[in-house]
Amino acid sequence: MKYFSLQNKQHIVSFEEAVVQGLAPDKGLYFPERIPAFDKAFLDDIVNKDDLDIAYAAIQPFVGDEIPAAVLKQIIADTLSFPFPLVNVEDNIYSLELFHGPTLAFKDVGARFMAGCLGYFRRNDSRPVTVLVATSGDTGGAVAAGFYNVPGVRVVILYPSGKVSTLQEKQLTTLNGNITALEIAGTFDDCQRMVKTAFLDAELQAHCLLTSANSINVARWLPQMFYYLLAYKQLMAKHRDVVFSVPSGNFGNICAGMMAAAMGLPVKHFVASTNVNDTVPRFMQTGAYTPGKATATLSNAMDVADPSNFVRILELFANSLPALKEKLTSMSFGDADTVTTMEQVWREHQYMLDPHGAVGYLGLKKYLSAAGPVANTAGVFLETAHPVKFADTAPVSLQDKIVTPERVQSLYDLEKQSVELPAEYNALKQWLTAN
Ligand SMILES: *Cc1c(COP(=O)(O)O)cnc(C)c1O
Repeated sequence: MKYFSLQNKQHIVSFEEAVVQGLAPDKGLYFPERIPAFDKAFLDDIVNKDDLDIAYAAIQPFVGDEIPAAVLKQIIADTLSFPFPLVNVEDNIYSLELFHGPTLAFKDVGARFMAGCLGYFRRNDSRPVTVLVATSGDTGGAVAAGFYNVPGVRVVILYPSGKVSTLQEKQLTTLNGNITALEIAGTFDDCQRMVKTAFLDAELQAHCLLTSANSINVARWLPQMFYYLLAYKQLMAKHRDVVFSVPSGNFGNICAGMMAAAMGLPVKHFVASTNVNDTVPRFMQTGAYTPGKATATLSNAMDVADPSNFVRILELFANSLPALKEKLTSMSFGDADTVTTMEQVWREHQYMLDPHGAVGYLGLKKYLSAAGPVANTAGVFLETAHPVKFADTAPVSLQDKIVTPERVQSLYDLEKQSVELPAEYNALKQWLTAN
């Protein structure tokens, strides 16, 4: 498969180039040259298929012959080494739990898949590559865990001091090995600005080979198709139709689901549920794309004003708003509704939502009630993070009911190791050159 830049369709690269570069030199996102189609017989028989074979069928056309089948199968097996349970919360409403990976959020899948691909592409190169990433919390942990011990790759993560949760900081700062956490005396925007400056600095690049593990990388974006296929497999015995509601920030996750649908996965409708950062819901109403400034919310992994993957969704629909509206509804919810929903779902169903999942649940319920009762339709919201990741800000009435999974309990006892730096680009450059 070849990929083109959404800024310039004449700029065409291989899968390897798209993965190693992340973003095209003209700053465009890469997009596959054609949309592959699922084999209909395969989908009809999906209940009898192995999860790993389903994932392989979905991703192989995007990789082509650039990674040998046996290696790709191993990367998939490493990526999907934890469960993706579909939990029936009430009636026809299901939670697709994507938080059973090492860092308790769905980003583990994309980060692990990308780490496997990059590790393979770098296998014969003696020059180590530095993955440089800025994080507001979840991405850094997933990238650190995904790239931990991958040969030939070192990971440098910038995070804003005092602005990530306790558990998130432990995930960033306790692995060590090929992972270094730079604790920046500033905000997430400072971290992001420092990273962006590094990617534009030719002098630094002559010194060390830099790459990004940003969510726009095709190797992080595309494997998210797996969630939708695995959910469909679990549902199709009982339901005729499925509606997915995806709590969305940068719109990478939902865009992967829409790609799977474009390939033939029968999905009746998608709901993009956002917090008050409502650029896309407003666009769907008015046709005007006017991102403002991001507002801080309880579902902070979705505090994005200008979602980078939305251009990919538009591309899937040939930039036609009427065509997009037939497949996608987008709705925005505030923190007050989020909290009320978390409390209500616990009270009525003893199911613990995290703030992101709560936004997804709200969008799903609102869409289904507006659509009217449809027999046999399953509504699925994606539960993108474990509630414990956001326990610090959970409603007081729920805090003592959130259970910490055993596999992260030991993290709290490990000693944090970080390098403290001021929020200045020169400090980063100096550190990268010296280390
Ligand atoms: C990153 C993240 C999201 C948003 O996903 P996008 O693909 O950026 O839309 C939602 N929930 C959680 C918990 C996240 O970490």
